[in-house]
Amino acid sequence: MFESLRHSQVYSMARKRGIEPDSAMQEVLGAWRILFEKNHIEEIKRLKGFEERVFGLEVEHSLICNDEVLKPEFHTRPDWTLELGNIVLNEKMMIHGNDSRLVIRVVNFSKHHHFSLDELRMRHRSTMLTFDVIISPVGGPLGWIKKAVYECIDCEHRFEIKQRLARERDAPHLCYNCIEIFAAKNKGKFPRIPPVNFDMLVEDCYYEDIEYLNAIEVAIDNDGNVLKLGGEKFLGVVNDEYVGTLVPGSIHRINARIAVDHLPNRDFVKDTRRIILLKIHSIENSPFKVSNVSETSIELNDNE
Ligand SMILES: [Zn+2]
Repeated sequence: MFESLRHSQVYSMARKRGIEPDSAMQEVLGAWRILFEKNHIEEIKRLKGFEERVFGLEVEHSLICNDEVLKPEFHTRPDWTLELGNIVLNEKMMIHGNDSRLVIRVVNFSKHHHFSLDELRMRHRSTMLTFDVIISPVGGPLGWIKKAVYECIDCEHRFEIKQRLARERDAPHLCYNCIEIFAAKNKGKFPRIPPVNFDMLVEDCYYEDIEYLNAIEVAIDNDGNVLKLGGEKFLGVVNDEYVGTLVPGSIHRINARIAVDHLPNRDFVKDTRRIILLKIHSIENSPFKVSNVSETSIELNDNE
């Protein structure tokens, strides 16, 4: 009985987000559901009653690799696969009466994903890679409109438009509801000028916390001594529960999706030059016990 209830809830949540579940989507939703039930249900129950709004749920990369549905999907379209996983996860939270939000943080990526930051180029775009780095936050926490909510001034129809980070905000071009209303009144005819009067409902938009950071590759020997720092400084961005928690000069293992971004100081909108942006998916403690961190943070500052 519960099975069918859960399915329908997941689909209605997916639909609410503007996603119509096709068969590939249904398979992925089902695979996540089984993965959480087998491995994380106790953790999900335990989180009940905590006051934080957003929690990261650490999911071992090996669990994804052992699943024949999730393995190819996660490695070819990680954002899409994770979004579906987060829908299932939060539906589980709802079932257990917890109103916090959980986000999947895949950790302990296999050796195939380990890479050198200094060798990173545009051709690695979209891949998920692991790096050992020294980080320093830049600019402090900020927010962005992840999903904008608009209302048609003529018919009060509301809808959401997903936005992209650090890009021009997407606004609606026409109101389909008004067109349908017009067609119903005018024997199926379309209005000559489609209705285009919209307000963005600032209070109802979905905002995400983010923070930018600089990352420099670090090589550490088995005794915990920093052997060398990388030559290049990369820009990274974190979201949700990581925001405001990053300590300048701390050493971490990060797992990041490689993205491209415009130059931070571009002086015209259509500038085609791009930089690599590390969209940091998860942050782990460094596997190395570092003994000379203070020296390294001094060196990091000198580089700036
Ligand atoms: Zn309208």
